[in-house]
Amino acid sequence: TLRLDRVTKSFGSTEVLHEVSLEVPDGTRLALVGSSGSGKSTLLRLIAGFERPDAGTISLDGRELASPSSVMPAHRRGIGYVAQDGALFPHLSVARNIAFALPRGAGRAARVRELMELASLDPALADRMPHELSGGQQQRVALARALALRPGVILLDEPFSALDTGLRSQTRSAVIDVLERSGVTAVLVTHDQDEALSFGQQVGVLAGGRLVQAGDPAAVFDAPIDAGVAEFLGDVV
Ligand code: ATP
Ligand code: MG
Repeated sequence: TLRLDRVTKSFGSTEVLHEVSLEVPDGTRLALVGSSGSGKSTLLRLIAGFERPDAGTISLDGRELASPSSVMPAHRRGIGYVAQDGALFPHLSVARNIAFALPRGAGRAARVRELMELASLDPALADRMPHELSGGQQQRVALARALALRPGVILLDEPFSALDTGLRSQTRSAVIDVLERSGVTAVLVTHDQDEALSFGQQVGVLAGGRLVQAGDPAAVFDAPIDAGVAEFLGDVV
């Protein structure tokens, strides 16, 4: 179980997250929604280990990942992370980006091919450089790279936002399939209500840095906790 307990984070004098508590049981998927600036990316970056909480704790299967006094380095957490902008290494080809963390040796090339297929990437793109790809292709390379080491938890910050509708649902189904088959725990940030509904077994709504509602997707969308959430959910349709 991935557990956040009253996590608070400020940048300067601005509080971006306020006492956020949530639980994502092993092998389940949480979709996080919220308007721009509500703190969604900051929350993922805290879980990934790129920011330190000011208060509260983050733990995985009872192991503490972060508290104000101690922070486990990102690379030791066993967490895959797809940043909102993909963040590929610009000087490495598609195949090298995906292979980056994989141990050298037999099986590496085959694993890269497998990851490309999983992310619906044409094998012919393997030797392209990131700037020679479309935004949607870059997102899928980032996704393949994040899954390379078979993380127990994966964090996805709007990973399908640059894909058109058809490819989006195709890639999303492929990813859900892989997560399910491998029992990966996932947190997905999205602006898309359909995506939240089809991806999440649990939906969380962030507003102004607070987790204002969380639970069963249908329950959240059918019975928004207040007018603000209703208005936001109306917006994301
Ligand atoms: P979007 O939907 O636009 O991606 P978001 O919900 O992901 O928004 P965050 O990126 O988490 O929002 O940002 C939340 C708030 O924190 C914003 O007001 C942002 O300007 C601020 N913020 C984020 N990172 C930093 C930083 N490193 N330094 C200062 N302020 C930051
Ligand atoms: Mg964001």
